[in-house]
Amino acid sequence: MKIILNIISKTFIFIFLTIITQVGGVIYLISLMVAKKWHKYLKFKILIIFLSLYLIFSFLIIPSIAQIFGREKIKNSEKIKPTNYLTILLNRNYVNPRLNKLLSKTAKELQKTDIEIHYLDANFPFINKFPLFPHLSHNDGKKIDISFIYTSKQGVISNKQKSISGYGVFEEPKTNEYNQTKNCLKQGYFQYDYSKYLTLGKINHELVFSEKHTKILIEKFLKNNELGKLFIEPHLKTRMNLTNKKVRFQGCRAVRHDDHIHIQLK
Ligand SMILES: [Zn+2]
Repeated sequence: MKIILNIISKTFIFIFLTIITQVGGVIYLISLMVAKKWHKYLKFKILIIFLSLYLIFSFLIIPSIAQIFGREKIKNSEKIKPTNYLTILLNRNYVNPRLNKLLSKTAKELQKTDIEIHYLDANFPFINKFPLFPHLSHNDGKKIDISFIYTSKQGVISNKQKSISGYGVFEEPKTNEYNQTKNCLKQGYFQYDYSKYLTLGKINHELVFSEKHTKILIEKFLKNNELGKLFIEPHLKTRMNLTNKKVRFQGCRAVRHDDHIHIQLK
């Protein structure tokens, strides 16, 4: 019985780490083998080995292997930063080199403004079609989520977000605006607002969604010829008066996009 429980718990950990980080599951298996061969008593031995190997792999080995799969880490700069460093730690910050170019070109366009690009989930380092949970389409290096721009009540641009993860705090439709979420839920797409469970905690309640600065950011992205589509919730598209054909509705099978912007290459 004990052996079965042991196998079940290890399988569970393997699957969980694979879903969250792609490489974590395999590194966990390697850690189990190393721990078996290393005859030394150590409290939390497997955990220590796993964390050490995970960091070595993530920061020293994976970036070069990812190149074989046509992906590289997002190049951070003064203007390009992750909303949450977990994105980097969990290896969710890999993109096709063309997407890095698009980001840096857009950052250049923003040089004269106080607006920064804060990115959320992009793609894993390896293998096309390997999905990055919970996103359906972030599986080819060509997709990335971008945070909205918020300001203080006085209108000063902030680099902060309204949730720890950067997801799940929605800029809800006003009473006179079209409510896509209601529509999708009514049609039975119960997952449509599931990102509300992924906030990891709501913060910075005082921040106000900035239509003006988020629109500037979106328009700078739209200037890129390489940009294929940009997803945002229909009521925000209307509210910001975005008329470019590349600005689309992602469909009810995905999740709502009134907490972030999704962009993808052609
Ligand atoms: Zn996305």
